[in-house]
Amino acid sequence: MNPEPLNPEPRTLELGTCDVKLSGWGRYPVVEARSESFETEKELKTALDGPGAVIPFGMGRSYGDSALAERVVSSRRYDKFLAFDPASGRLHCESGVSLAEIIDAFLPRGWFLSVTPGTRFISVGGAVASDVHGKNHHKAGCFSSCVESFTLMLADGSMPTCSRNQNAGLFRATCGGMGLTGVILDVVLYLMRVKSAFIRETVVKCRNLAEVFDAFEAGAEVSYSVAWIDCLAKGADIGRSVLMMGEHAESGILGPLAPPPVTLPFALPGFLLNRHTVALFNRRYYGSFPERAEGRLTPLDRFFYPLDRIGRWNLIYGRGGFTQYQVVFPKASSADGLRHILGRIADAGLGSFLGVLKLFGPENDNLLSFPMEGYTLALDFKIERRLFPFLDELDRVVVDHGGRLYLTKDVRMKAAVFRAGYPGWEKFRALRQEMGLDDKFRSLQSKRMRI
Ligand SMILES: Cc1cc2nc3c(=O)[nH]c(=O)nc-3n(C[C@H](O)[C@H](O)[C@H](O)COP(=O)(O)OP(=O)(O)OC[C@H]3O[C@@H](n4cnc5c(N)ncnc54)[C@H](O)[C@@H]3O)c2cc1C
Repeated sequence: MNPEPLNPEPRTLELGTCDVKLSGWGRYPVVEARSESFETEKELKTALDGPGAVIPFGMGRSYGDSALAERVVSSRRYDKFLAFDPASGRLHCESGVSLAEIIDAFLPRGWFLSVTPGTRFISVGGAVASDVHGKNHHKAGCFSSCVESFTLMLADGSMPTCSRNQNAGLFRATCGGMGLTGVILDVVLYLMRVKSAFIRETVVKCRNLAEVFDAFEAGAEVSYSVAWIDCLAKGADIGRSVLMMGEHAESGILGPLAPPPVTLPFALPGFLLNRHTVALFNRRYYGSFPERAEGRLTPLDRFFYPLDRIGRWNLIYGRGGFTQYQVVFPKASSADGLRHILGRIADAGLGSFLGVLKLFGPENDNLLSFPMEGYTLALDFKIERRLFPFLDELDRVVVDHGGRLYLTKDVRMKAAVFRAGYPGWEKFRALRQEMGLDDKFRSLQSKRMRI
């Protein structure tokens, strides 16, 4: 058994079958697991034929327990590029290929991901399974919107191709289905053309929630937008934030992105992060921006992946780990819901300096995709004794306002909160039962949610 939890460096998972201590990106919980990595469909079939349930494991960048189980099947060696059409940007690759590998191979040729989350160290399979969103959700939708098709290995070893026209029900359940419908094998997706590895960025400082909502709405036509939010601001300052918007630059060099320049060597003492240090950081950070700055050229990696610049940054929360609470509210209840939640967080002095606010566009028709039209808030919390009861209280606000929590960040949501937020859950569970998937594909999260 490997002595240290394998996240954030799950390289050992490339080594065939081994017993490991495994966690998600939040480093909580840590479980003992048998990991079986596969390089071919035959190897995967052998793993699935083994006793008991499994869950697919990509790069372990989901924060909680959605990729955790007693047995995981790791896609890290299933990582070949299969075909690329330079006329259309149509890419065919295996699901263990990472977004970083796609960028390294194709950015120098003028192609970038149509949808990318805030880290490039995730697998294509993980991107589909969480139906991840990026800073352009309001214009481009989720990751599934750039996916044409994929093949899936089901519990019996069959490998249907799924697209919007073929096995469409399985396609809609798998995009956002958190690995619970089978193992995604090869994926066909579309990249987008870019002329530069830079973004032309505009930054707007906003004094409160009303101002940042107005700024998001005013920038609705801009391709990318996201705001850093000060979660400890109180009273009239609630929602104080810095909105960053951007378009791909028309000129500049095209090149691979730099590797992380700094890596944290060990877990920092958890006490370093407290309401005073976070408040100090937030005041300084907010103060470091001008009221408005237009058109500055920002490298792609700084704009899309600021956290990737520090390797193993998840160690800053100490040995106990952390979780991210990501909620979305329908537009009509966003202001009220966010004010409630932010007020509670500031009063409790919880939350960290990593707070993000984003306006989502329309919802898609996948059964468990997270985004709905409205505002989403994502906030990191160090794991501590009073945290989960506190988050249960926030959940009540979320449910009362018609919102939902993001499964790929979650580690403690109760089944009732999940069901209230995801009306597609019954269809999802029925599909799993009908296709005999519920006995073979299970994560700690799916057991907790009873799906
Ligand atoms: C710094 C950071 C920033 C992030 N920013 C964003 C963001 O902006 N937007 C966003 O949407 N997400 C964001 N995320 C979350 C991340 O994009 C997702 O959790 C993603 O699914 C992780 O992919 P992975 O390859 O690491 O998968 P894992 O974490 O290993 O697994 C995630 C889920 O995918 C399933 N899965 C993995 N591979 C397969 C496969 N081959 N077949 C079937 N199921 C599979 C797993 O079973 C699990 O349920 C961020 C995460 C980090 C650490």
